Order: sequence, then structure tokens, then C-alpha cells
Amino acid sequence: MELSANAKINLTLDILRKREDGYHDLQMVMQAVTLADTLTVVPARGVEGQALSDLHFLPTGGKNLAQVAAAAFRQATGLGGEVDVSIQKHVPVCAGLAGGSADAAAVLSAMNRLTGAGLSPTELAKIGEQVGSDVPFCVLGGTALAESRGEVLTPLAPLPPCHIVICKPPFSISTPQLFGRVKVKKIVRRPDTAGVIAALEAGDLTGVARRMYNVFEDVLEPRRLSEINSIKAALIDCGALGASMSGSGPSVFGLFDQKNRAQEALERLTKGYRGVFLCGPAGPR
Ligand code: ATP
Repeated sequence: MELSANAKINLTLDILRKREDGYHDLQMVMQAVTLADTLTVVPARGVEGQALSDLHFLPTGGKNLAQVAAAAFRQATGLGGEVDVSIQKHVPVCAGLAGGSADAAAVLSAMNRLTGAGLSPTELAKIGEQVGSDVPFCVLGGTALAESRGEVLTPLAPLPPCHIVICKPPFSISTPQLFGRVKVKKIVRRPDTAGVIAALEAGDLTGVARRMYNVFEDVLEPRRLSEINSIKAALIDCGALGASMSGSGPSVFGLFDQKNRAQEALERLTKGYRGVFLCGPAGPR
């Protein structure tokens, strides 16, 4: 069975409070995009399932999120055997684009079909919670408000058709370190989440793009922030209606209403970066 595993971007990312359990309550408008890995899921040839990809540094056994998801499915339903998963990675790793979570969600969906379990997307998303906090969103796809740790989802009106340029600078940012640096009461700038939701309902792409923001941008190290800002500036200069960092970074994206402008941004950023992609919004899975 062949499936695509769509990445996500954060149109907004806000941190509301630190909880007593050490986690943070988040509020994020998430959007699935057509940038995707391709997975093939088949019954395992050996005793234990493998997860093979074209990236040599990813785990190949039970630690690959694709296999973690398969195990979570078997545990929750009592159905299905070991599976071999082949992954063609197109989504950059450790990029704030939930590539691993997308692979996990695709495997949950494959297992659901292969076993005939017939679970609803909401039931599959619930199983996904144990695998990672972005997995439930990746199961549902489309456009959604994600709250709590990201697993409490409310579907939203779709992002109007547009062109999305994503650029991943060649460094990674530690998510725990970023959370460690956030002082919730000191956050000065926040995204206009309610405004973004209203603009989605009105089908107003410019209104969405102008209100996007990610509070993690406030706590980046100065040299990282300056690189993120220079990518944002290049996107805006090429005609993006708005630009922001996705998740815990470092990927930056811009929303365009005109394909030729997006193409120009792609070409310009490709001169300085290897991980540059032109894609669009993806609907629910
Ligand atoms: P998020 O946006 O959810 O924070 P991310 O884009 O920062 O995700 P991912 O690429 O989803 O990060 O995951 C990165 C980590 O997960 C790496 O440590 C990687 O080794 C591990 N991993 C396990 N399985 C996979 C997979 N199938 N694809 C990508 N990474 C995987």
C-alpha cells in the first residue's frame, strides 16, 4: 500500500502557559501542505518490521516513528501484524515540519485499511497521541486549531488556495531548549490567532498572512534569528503576503497569491539554501 505523508506548517504558534506537569499549553493554527514523504507499507518479511528510508541516519527499526505508530496501532486494536515500511523522505528532518509525525500518521492510516479495522479519523488520532503530539493533526490534515500540547484539535475553514514556499536553513534548533527559554509572562509579541481564524472563515488569504506569527521567534539566539529574518525578508521582497517560522524551526515559509512570485522566491532562495520547496495547502486526509 502506497501513501503520502503530508508535512505541516504553523500559521500561528502561541504559548499560553506552563503547566504543572512541565508541559506548555499551546495554541496553534496548523496547515497541512502538499510537501510529503511517500511510504509503502507491506506485511513484514522478517519477524520484526523494518523502516527503511533513503536517509541513512534515520532509525530503521522500532525507533522509527513509522514503527512506533504500527506498534501503537497493534496495541490499541489488537489487530494487524508486523509491517515493513519504505519511506522516500522529501520532508526535511528536524525542521519544524512534523515529517516524522506525518510518517507515523500515514502508517496508522495504512494499518487501519490493511486490517479493515474501520476506525474513524478521530479514533486514529487518539492512538496517534501516544506516538507524538503532532501525530493527531497529521492524521486529520487540512486546517485546524491545535491546543493543549497540540493534540486537542478543532477543524477550521480551509486556507484559501495559495502557493507556499518553504525554506529550511542548514541548522537545527533544539525544541526542549527553546521551550526552556520561553518565559510566558514576558512574551511581547503574539500571533493574532482569533484574527487568523476569522480571516480563514472569510476566505481572506491576505488577512491570514498578515496575522501570522510564531512566539518561538522571540527566543531564538541572535545569529539564528537574523538568518530566519533574512529568509522572511527575501520571501516578502519576492511578494509573499506574509512569512513566519514553522513549529520550533528552523523552517521558514511564505504565502503567495501569485505563482510567478512564489517561483521567483524559490529560485532566489535556492541560490543560498538546499532545502527550498514550492508547495500548496493540503486538505483533510
Ligand atoms: P516537529 O515539527 O513535529 O517538531 P520536526 O520536523 O522538528 O518535527 P521530525 O523530522 O518529525 O522533526 O523528527 C525528527 C526526529 O525524529 C529525529 O530525531 C529523527 O531521527 C526521528 N525520527 C524517527 N522516525 C522518523 C521518520 N520516519 N522521519 C523523520 N524523523 C524520524
